[in-house]
Amino acid sequence: MPGMAAQDARVGTARSNPGVAHPSRGRCRFCCAPLSHVFADLGVSPLANSYLTAEALGEPELFYPLRALVCGECLLVQLEEYESPAGIFSEYAYFSSYSSSWMEHSRRLAELAIARFDLGPGSRVVELASNDGYLLQHFVRRGVSILGVEPAVNVARVAEERGIPTVVEFFGRDTATKLVADSRADVVFALNVLAHVPELNDFVAGIAMLLGPEGVAVLEFPHLQRLIEGRLFDTIYHEHFSYFSLHTVRRILAHQGLTVFDVEEVPTQGGSLRLYVRHEADVSKPVDASVGELARRESEAGLDTLEPYLSFGAVVGGVKRRLLEFLIGLRQDGKSIVGYGAPAKGNTLLNYCGVSAALLDYTVDMSPHKQGRYLPGTRIPIEEPGALAWTRPDVVLILPWNLREEIVRQHAYVREWGGRFAVPLPHATLIE
Ligand SMILES: [Zn+2]
Repeated sequence: MPGMAAQDARVGTARSNPGVAHPSRGRCRFCCAPLSHVFADLGVSPLANSYLTAEALGEPELFYPLRALVCGECLLVQLEEYESPAGIFSEYAYFSSYSSSWMEHSRRLAELAIARFDLGPGSRVVELASNDGYLLQHFVRRGVSILGVEPAVNVARVAEERGIPTVVEFFGRDTATKLVADSRADVVFALNVLAHVPELNDFVAGIAMLLGPEGVAVLEFPHLQRLIEGRLFDTIYHEHFSYFSLHTVRRILAHQGLTVFDVEEVPTQGGSLRLYVRHEADVSKPVDASVGELARRESEAGLDTLEPYLSFGAVVGGVKRRLLEFLIGLRQDGKSIVGYGAPAKGNTLLNYCGVSAALLDYTVDMSPHKQGRYLPGTRIPIEEPGALAWTRPDVVLILPWNLREEIVRQHAYVREWGGRFAVPLPHATLIE
């Protein structure tokens, strides 16, 4: 089964054009208030998906500040602006279809949407960040008219080869204007893309333009409450510009005349929200009780106040000290430790915590695009999973912790030589 560990590397595939400079540096990307509160300062880090070739090991690497701020006005958690080379998103080697758990998640979502919104011939479905067509393929056999929007040329080409019509562009108002000349959409999907969008208001305005009068937009993104409660600071990296609570995302959507009428919590990425969104004027869909219920729980956690955001930095420091203590303790007991997976989030974790090959001999990844390369910053080598059986490590630290059950199940043979699995978060520990 190919590359499931690559799931959370599903980044950099959509978004509006990252080469465009933000007009208001130092200000909130939603409400433009000046940014002065720090959520998490993770020092400096290379771009999380810039895996190194053997030849590149002789070259210096670029490190960028990695600091998440929270807006004192709208409470949007966001990365501060930094000068980004235009090439960040241009070479992108992640294909959604490499991830088995993500494929299953998508298949179920497609079936749910077909049934709930009665989609069939005559319906029009558009996906933003459609990648290799992993989701839209499920609508083809129902006769639904489909269109993907995907800026990564190589990924879009794979979708086209599969018969998924794909527009190769960054999405925003401009693209929406062109698309609605044809017709508006009954359903717009935007899965794991909102966090990656630098021009947030332009992207959401595009959704409002693209959506038919009674259309539904389905948005999924990691839930900030889960990030805070699960201490998942490793999901902060340069390609994730924004981190959303329901509280703040509702304001962002309302600003473009959109209303959340239903919300579900889904397990992807350590805990995500799936929002069902309609035009404010579309009263045919009443707002479900789930929306008020989740808003209430966020309020109880204080997410509509600054306090929990300002105390997160201290939590992150504690996680770092605990991970180092854990790994150093194992090494001093003579144990060998390797990693599992080379996800973007693993690079934030290892760079921030200062874990190099002195602690982690190597890591393995299912994706052939990563094997034979080195993790950025820490320069830990990436091997194929077969290396586990050849070298028989004592401890395998799972970097894509969101896939831990799948990984432990598929590599149960590690126990044959007494090997153990471990996770770094919410605190470093051996599992089972
Ligand atoms: Zn703001």
